[in-house]
Amino acid sequence: MSSNIVWHNHKVTRAERAENKHQRPCLLWFTGLSGSGKSTIANALDVALHQRGYHTFLLDGDNVRHGLNKDLGFSDEDRVENIRRIGEVSKLFTDAGLIVLSAFISPFTSDRRMVRNLFPAGEFVEVFMDTPLATCEERDPKGLYEKARAGKIKHFTGIDSPYEAPERPEVRLDTSSMSVDDCVDHLIGYLLQRELIFESGQAG
Ligand code: ADP
Repeated sequence: MSSNIVWHNHKVTRAERAENKHQRPCLLWFTGLSGSGKSTIANALDVALHQRGYHTFLLDGDNVRHGLNKDLGFSDEDRVENIRRIGEVSKLFTDAGLIVLSAFISPFTSDRRMVRNLFPAGEFVEVFMDTPLATCEERDPKGLYEKARAGKIKHFTGIDSPYEAPERPEVRLDTSSMSVDDCVDHLIGYLLQRELIFESGQAG
C-alpha cells in the first residue's frame, strides 16, 4: 500500500449511523457445503428481519462474482481474494449501520478468521450450516454434486476439496433435522439474546 494513502475519519461516526437506524450492526457469516442451506436460511432470515423493520443487506453466492469479483477465478489465490473482498464489503455495510448476511461456502478456517478479525468482538456471527454431506448431495439443488462426481467440476468442496468445519461457531444449524422456520427462530433467538436486535422490533 502506498505511504501516501491516509485513513480519513468520517464526521458521521459508525455508531451515529447505527443509532439513526435504531439497530446494532453485525455480520452473520453463513458457511457450509453447497446445498447445506446457507442461501435459503440467509434469505428467510433477511425477510424476517426486514419485516421487523431492521435494515439488512444480503450478500449471496455467485452474485458478487458477476460484478465486484468478476476478475477472480477459482485458484487458491483468487478464492482467498474473493472472501477477503466480501469481508471488506461486509465491513463497509456494517459501518453504514446495516445488519449484513453473507452466504458463501468459505471452506477454509484461515479465510473465515481473516474476516472475523475485521470486526469488533461480538459483531461477527459465524453460522455453521452443519448439514451432512449426504443430505446436501441428495438435494443437489444446482446439480453440482452430480457434475463433481462425474469429474466435470474439479476442486468441488466436500468431494475433492476439503471443507474445514468451524470449531467454535456462534451458531450451528443442521437443516437435515431443522426446518427453515426452526433455523430462523433459532437465529432470531440468538440475535435477541446477544442484544443485536430487540424484542419490540426496532432497537430503542
Ligand atoms: P447453499 O446456499 O448452502 O448452497 P441452498 O440454500 O441453495 O444451499 O440449497 C438448499 C436446498 O435445500 C434448497 O433447495 C432448499 O429448498 C432445500 N432444503 C430442504 N430443507 C431445507 C431446510 N430445512 N433448510 C434449508 N434448505 C432446505
